[in-house]
Amino acid sequence: MDKSTVVKKLDFIKEIKGSNSFYDVHAHPFDVFQGPFAYKPSSIHPDLFSAGGSEYTSQQIVDLNLKKHLGMECREFDQAIKDKFSLLNSRMLYAHTGPKVFGDSMLLGGIDRVFLLPILGGDDEGSGQLRVMAGMFGGDKRFMLGYSVPNSMPNEKIAQAVSDAANDYGVKVLKIHPSLQEIDLATRAGVERVETILEASRMARVKVVIHGGLSLRCSRPEASTYGAVSNLEHVDWGITPETVVVAHAGCFGHTLDDARASILPRMGAMLEQYDNLAVDTSGIGFEVLCLVLKHIDLSRILFGSDCLYEKQWGAVVSLMCALEQTVPSPEVSLVRIASLNPASRFLGGQSYVDQALSQMSPIY
Ligand SMILES: [Zn+2]
Repeated sequence: MDKSTVVKKLDFIKEIKGSNSFYDVHAHPFDVFQGPFAYKPSSIHPDLFSAGGSEYTSQQIVDLNLKKHLGMECREFDQAIKDKFSLLNSRMLYAHTGPKVFGDSMLLGGIDRVFLLPILGGDDEGSGQLRVMAGMFGGDKRFMLGYSVPNSMPNEKIAQAVSDAANDYGVKVLKIHPSLQEIDLATRAGVERVETILEASRMARVKVVIHGGLSLRCSRPEASTYGAVSNLEHVDWGITPETVVVAHAGCFGHTLDDARASILPRMGAMLEQYDNLAVDTSGIGFEVLCLVLKHIDLSRILFGSDCLYEKQWGAVVSLMCALEQTVPSPEVSLVRIASLNPASRFLGGQSYVDQALSQMSPIY
């Protein structure tokens, strides 16, 4: 799709959006390689933080390749090349962060509020990352902060740590990444770890986002399947009444055939069993996204972009185009997925959705 078509599509999306707020439930303030501690406040803007010496230029809209299957194109390369590419790419995308960088991105995509999900490496201290994130983004209503339980924390301390994160920093969501956090959901200990985090979510009334699918970024190959849907099935998600979002609709790193034959049917069964489960649209590429929209009840899908790894405006356009190819009322569905579903799950309940839909223009 060329740049001018993308610009027109974004204008159309903003028209459909009207006075609704659009949410992105899956964004990362830092990347896994650099972490939060490399950034220094910039002298040119109070809300800009930079790592390294490159100059910040705000994102621009460019041509968009909808057919690119995210996460898959590196598969053929050997691990060393993949790691190097990933590291360089990630450094470049995350050379700058802060409210200025996210604000510029949100403006292009028509996004109003963003959930910032930390990514913890092996030995990270979660509270240190949270302090830095709160220093950069805290107090700005556009951003909702996430917290990730550090690997080194024993299970019996998790409830208190989550409660402190919610009370001291206003944390609204817990991020779980089984592969990066060394939580093997094929084992009883791994399942207990996640269920302890779910219990903490119940007590502190915070939402959960868990990585769903394979992981291409973890250091040990055997950890790449820890968050696969066949492992997520072992967990009792009903321990918390709070919304649990399975990121990437469980499809991250899977082929189109795998998604169709195995992942989405299994996700469908999990969604049927647990009312509090939902999925997000981040990081799965256009064709898998179309499958997700066809196979999963639209009321259970929330917009996520995986920015800054992915372009937020690109994710919005991709969702709109995928809806146009798969559902009878793409405009209403876009508003549901980007606005009403996240707002109702995080703010208000089903009556909020019904009321908002009744106020939408009849042409949609
Ligand atoms: Zn992500």
